[in-house]
Amino acid sequence: MAFATYSDGEWSGIRLQPVEPLQLHPAAHVFHYASTCFEGLKAYRHADGSLHIFRLDRHIARLRKSTELLCLPVPGPEALEEAIRNLVSACADDIPPYPGALYLRPVICGTEPNIGGAAHAVNEAFFFVLASPVGSYFAGGGEKMLRIFLDDQHMRSTPDFGAAKSGGNYAAALRHIVKARDEFNADQVLFCPGGDVQETGAANFFLLDDDKVVTRTIDGSILDGITRDSLLTLARSNGYTVEERKILVPELLEWVRSGEAALSGTAAVLAGVGTLIYQGQEYAVGDGQPGRNTRRLREMLSAIHSGESTDELGWLAPVE
Ligand code: PLP
Repeated sequence: MAFATYSDGEWSGIRLQPVEPLQLHPAAHVFHYASTCFEGLKAYRHADGSLHIFRLDRHIARLRKSTELLCLPVPGPEALEEAIRNLVSACADDIPPYPGALYLRPVICGTEPNIGGAAHAVNEAFFFVLASPVGSYFAGGGEKMLRIFLDDQHMRSTPDFGAAKSGGNYAAALRHIVKARDEFNADQVLFCPGGDVQETGAANFFLLDDDKVVTRTIDGSILDGITRDSLLTLARSNGYTVEERKILVPELLEWVRSGEAALSGTAAVLAGVGTLIYQGQEYAVGDGQPGRNTRRLREMLSAIHSGESTDELGWLAPVE
């Protein structure tokens, strides 16, 4: 893991060390006031053995944005980039070939021991990056079409905190996801407060057909997905009309009579939705089978990850 500490207004150098338990005071700010945020990104091994981190600059920018929203200190972008690259180099022998990858999890948390500190930004923090070899989301053959519960009563986060990739947002959404899984065997909840189709607990949401790709506007209420941005860029340059706008539940139910729906994120790239569950009724998405546009866009982005397509947009950061 990469590891650094912050105190007295300064970060220590970021060093690599074996993964080991961290020592924290029980009064550490993060335990009480959830001063923590993280990122999730992947490094891929290409067929020629070379290693590449996908959209490292965007992930660093989003981590910095999350730290701002949480009043946490953050190492400079160059230091973050160097730490992540060094960690990937150090783990090179453990990175499986594509479609496997090395999943990287940078975390920043407030460690200042101060239970009276609810209204104060921390003066002490940890930064660390975990690295884990992962297999393909679609391993095991066959594409499992997702069952998604539409929740029009709750919001995953809040209108101005959904852009923070912070544990508190996942904690706030969890009970709705557990309930939908228990009651409806749903894989995920699509949060649609007041009918506004937003995102699921851990992915952005897309509607697709042969001409169009539609997804919700980024306005601070949902996570600014980096897979989302990448897919929209590829869709535009491959002749799709891209619409970033509000989607309401009635439009969604109408769309899926013939169109496709999918979830986007670092783990799965773009995963097809087969069934929507809304007000006790099940709605098949198209014919319930993987959609051709979902597949096409997923394959385009996967080909960049794997090195099969040229990285014309400079999304891959090579690692020595
Ligand atoms: N929305 C939420 C709430 C997420 O947790 C994630 C994934 O991490 C995403 C969207 C997709 O983001 P990205 O494509 O950057 O992985």
